Amino acid sequence: MGSVKNLVGQQFGRLTPLKQKGWYRTKNGSRFAKWLCQCNCGNTVVVLSLRLVSGSVQSCGCLKQEMVGDSASQKAQLGLVSEKMAGIRCAEQGFEVYEPVCGMGKVDLRVDAGGGWRKVQVKSTRHYRFNRAVVGIRSKKYPPGVIDFFVIHEPNQKRFYVIPQADVPACDTLALTPHYDQYIEAWHLLKEPLPGEKRRRKAA
Ligand SMILES: [Zn+2]
Repeated sequence: MGSVKNLVGQQFGRLTPLKQKGWYRTKNGSRFAKWLCQCNCGNTVVVLSLRLVSGSVQSCGCLKQEMVGDSASQKAQLGLVSEKMAGIRCAEQGFEVYEPVCGMGKVDLRVDAGGGWRKVQVKSTRHYRFNRAVVGIRSKKYPPGVIDFFVIHEPNQKRFYVIPQADVPACDTLALTPHYDQYIEAWHLLKEPLPGEKRRRKAA
């Protein structure tokens, strides 16, 4: 029987061990002390000493929950703001804009810039890699016909990339390298005929 290192009163993230509470025994006979811990949030939880000391557990679970909740709601909010701003930007240019009521679909906006209705999926950039914005695309979800354009909002630069669906490579995330500079504020592309579509001439 080895002696148990006393962890009472120490702080491990949000957890403070109150007392030793039993053992965890492995199949080969080793045993590890378990500790009843007080979490800062008020809950108590029993944690293996190993997990406390290594830092792999730092709360009763509330910490993880907060982080997940934060990022999920922030993501959703940022997405909505980008959609609204893209719609406003289109309207300012005199385009007709239709926003489908159900915000969960693959088409965020339908825009007619004079060349017919275009189905638009709005994305927003969330982080940077080598100084270039990176955007989650998951292009597999958007085959041709489902949408015509990705409009990518880069909030830090207050600008939009307008990229035809056909010009986005199959990828989960897209780094907006200098190659994509040609699409910055390229709203005029919405007027161009789509691949396979004849240019519609309006009577003068
Ligand atoms: Zn907690």
